[in-house]
Amino acid sequence: MRSRMMSELSWDTYQRRLHDDDAIVIVPVGAVEQHGYHLPLGTDWLMASYMAGRAAENVDGIVAEPIAYGARSQVRTGGGPHRCGTTSLNAETLIALVHDVLVEIGRHGARKIAVIDSHFENRSFLDEACHRASETLAAKGKEVRILKMLYAERIKPETMKLVYAGIQDPPGLDLEHGGILETAMMLYCYPDLVDMSRAMDEPAPDFPPYDVFPIDPSWVPESGCLSSGKTATREIGKLLTEEFVTQVTNALRAEFRD
Ligand code: MN
Repeated sequence: MRSRMMSELSWDTYQRRLHDDDAIVIVPVGAVEQHGYHLPLGTDWLMASYMAGRAAENVDGIVAEPIAYGARSQVRTGGGPHRCGTTSLNAETLIALVHDVLVEIGRHGARKIAVIDSHFENRSFLDEACHRASETLAAKGKEVRILKMLYAERIKPETMKLVYAGIQDPPGLDLEHGGILETAMMLYCYPDLVDMSRAMDEPAPDFPPYDVFPIDPSWVPESGCLSSGKTATREIGKLLTEEFVTQVTNALRAEFRD
């Protein structure tokens, strides 16, 4: 089967896919960030790449190089910037990087670009990058539509019930950093990178409704996870992952039908 990875295509094949096939180019954006003891630092960008790859299969698209680094990890959403390995970009850098990549892809002839995000903190900066790229491309006379999606933004209530089955006081999505969802999806998508023997069962933090700077590391549980991934299974991971793959695919089909 022909490759869907931009880096594995020759320049003229890429050109043909953009010009003749009007292929959707999918850009995964993630983060390099701690996810506790049991998950790898690449969890976010690996999952964004996985989603991009599966969606590309469904829509005959191309997966561009992932933008692995993301916006600064925040204490109440990603466990904060202080642990070794959490390697973040300044907001200005991320906006400029994503803008430049999108403009290049559009300049070469893509008319349909999708940015698939996996890291909550990226959100507003990706909005800004997409907005600016859209303006830059319009000024160059390029007609390009950009779709941006946090792949895990919505989960069906019935799926959440299954994910949290048997758990008293489910932590909720706000504390899902290194918790059941990410652990389960990684068990399904990248099983060799998960070490369940190191998954902790600490109490979830009770954050106040504000942030402080400089950050207070004592707010974050020892492992760096904001809830426990201990009860995650591959089956839960399959359920979640397939739901998200469908959502991403449906979004691309809805916005990029001709
Ligand atoms: Mn993250």
